Amino acid sequence: MTAPPTGRVLVLNCGSSSIKYRLYDGDLTVDGGRVVDGGLVERIGEEGGGPADHAAALQDLMGRLDLGELTAVGHRVVHGGLRFSAPTVIDDDVVAAIEALVPLAPLHNPANLAGITVARRLLPDTPQVAVFDTAFHRTLPEAAATYAIDRAVTQEYGIHRYGFHGTSHAYVSRRTAALLGRAYEDVNVITLHLGNGASACAVAGGRSVATSMGLSPLEGLVMGTRSGDIDPAIVFHLQRNAGMSVDEIDHLLNHRSGLFGLCGANDMREVLRRRAAGDPAAALAFDVYCRRITAYVGAYYALLGRVDAITFTAGIGENAADVRAAALANLERLGIAVSPERNATGAGERIISPEGAEVAVCVVPTDEEREIATQTLLAVSRAP
Ligand code: ADP
Repeated sequence: MTAPPTGRVLVLNCGSSSIKYRLYDGDLTVDGGRVVDGGLVERIGEEGGGPADHAAALQDLMGRLDLGELTAVGHRVVHGGLRFSAPTVIDDDVVAAIEALVPLAPLHNPANLAGITVARRLLPDTPQVAVFDTAFHRTLPEAAATYAIDRAVTQEYGIHRYGFHGTSHAYVSRRTAALLGRAYEDVNVITLHLGNGASACAVAGGRSVATSMGLSPLEGLVMGTRSGDIDPAIVFHLQRNAGMSVDEIDHLLNHRSGLFGLCGANDMREVLRRRAAGDPAAALAFDVYCRRITAYVGAYYALLGRVDAITFTAGIGENAADVRAAALANLERLGIAVSPERNATGAGERIISPEGAEVAVCVVPTDEEREIATQTLLAVSRAP
């Protein structure tokens, strides 16, 4: 048995123009441990004010943080491909592998790599760990991860359901089991991560068995600016009839679709405000958004066979009671109901289904940085 991995961990979540950071100390494996420091560096590389690049931003950040006795640095990495199914201590070979995955995550992996490169240079004696958004979904059964496209093509080009938000789905499903007072191995949970990006996951006994994002984060639920599921023929239709290039269609589906494409607002608070004021476009956007969630809940219910809990998380899942109520309306025949009183009140981890309901409906605030810190300590304690 290895000693319980307590320690001091710096978590870095490097986006293309921002760095989210948290410094933790203590025993993170029991969801204890405290946040010592944290924040967000924004506008990296933008004209007028922000740090010139990730190197400058991290250099400045590390000068300000108290990194004495640092056990490890945990890096969020979006795409781990087929290779990474667990948090991994970073060496040159791991860096090369993350680099090789850039074609699958052209927006995310380069920013994650920039953070890794600079942190390794500034803290050469501190173990650095990559925690992958895709890793939790490496348990997907082959039938769930395979697209029904010519096998020769999918195999040559890495076309596979990788899934994302894995760190969040893992954390939230584990916390749900704790909230129900049950062993993680014994519960089946449908987790709904509804933030700017959104995905659903079916978790059977702690293993991801279905998830709505696929090769990229574009598939699945309706999102702030992404379409989620569409008929792929829409792409050919636009290319042939609207004369749009592949890059233009990519931009349309990733940045001008979803809630924004439907009603001009990508922020759910604004959608709810406009809907309440009688804006029909906002009302339709809300309905399309919630209906997609309902359909996934039904699909994952069928795949799991038995559902113990449905858990909402992230900005919309944690805060938008109207979305929770609409997404799970009229499902009493499946044992699913939301208590109007419980749904409208309360904070933090909580159950919002009526007393004695067959399926517990829960709200669990996600904490990806904490989960990255926990996974980082576990990876370091396992490393030879
Ligand atoms: P990210 O994916 O960027 O981490 P978040 O998890 O913070 O995003 O979620 C952002 C979304 O949460 C936005 O659509 C925002 O409108 C929504 N949101 C935040 N607070 C509320 C609220 N009180 N009511 C409804 N929606 C909210």
